[in-house]
Amino acid sequence: MNAAQPAPCIGVLALQGAFTAHEDALRSLHVATRQVRTPADLARVAALVMPGGESTTMARLLETSQMFDELSARISAGMPVFGTCAGMILLAKEVLDGRTDQRSFGAIDIGVRRNGYGRQVDSFETDVEVSGLDRPFHAVFIRAPKVVTTGTAVEVLATHDGVPVLARQGHIMVASFHPEITADARLHQMFLQHNGFTTEHRSTSTERG
Ligand code: GLN
Repeated sequence: MNAAQPAPCIGVLALQGAFTAHEDALRSLHVATRQVRTPADLARVAALVMPGGESTTMARLLETSQMFDELSARISAGMPVFGTCAGMILLAKEVLDGRTDQRSFGAIDIGVRRNGYGRQVDSFETDVEVSGLDRPFHAVFIRAPKVVTTGTAVEVLATHDGVPVLARQGHIMVASFHPEITADARLHQMFLQHNGFTTEHRSTSTERG
């Protein structure tokens, strides 16, 4: 369709955490991807995936690598970002039970509680219905943030026990679970397609024609 243009590159924030599985998911969709560790890397990508990991550590590394303010400016300018787990915390407007000095981008109007599912269910897996997908997505939660508030501009795409676990506001999409570790790239594909990127998926079960 846009064969005359170079393929846009989708970055994966690679300071800490579960970033390699996100690269695999993006590659399975046949999009160009690169690890983002510096402001120069950031300048070369058209969209970004922020992985799970430890949001306090990632926020600190974003500052020490001189990327926090630059990324904030790119988000304000409309760069699409998909944040999963710790990445969701970093994109949220309000963070409960964070470190007092923990910064977030305030890019989506949600409040989240770090480790909000409690210690007894530190990690769990469940199938969730996702609006726009024809069959459930297997969601793996690992010390996941719990969404406690959502603003009116937020589109809730999936819930678990009545709590939003996948949400979108314009060019920002967030998941409290880890969509990258199930070899199912449908949410990455949804993120990219929603933001106008062309993807190709060879799996017939998810092909929509
Ligand atoms: N509990 C972590 C945090 O607060 C997030 C866990 C995860 O990303 N798997 O950053």
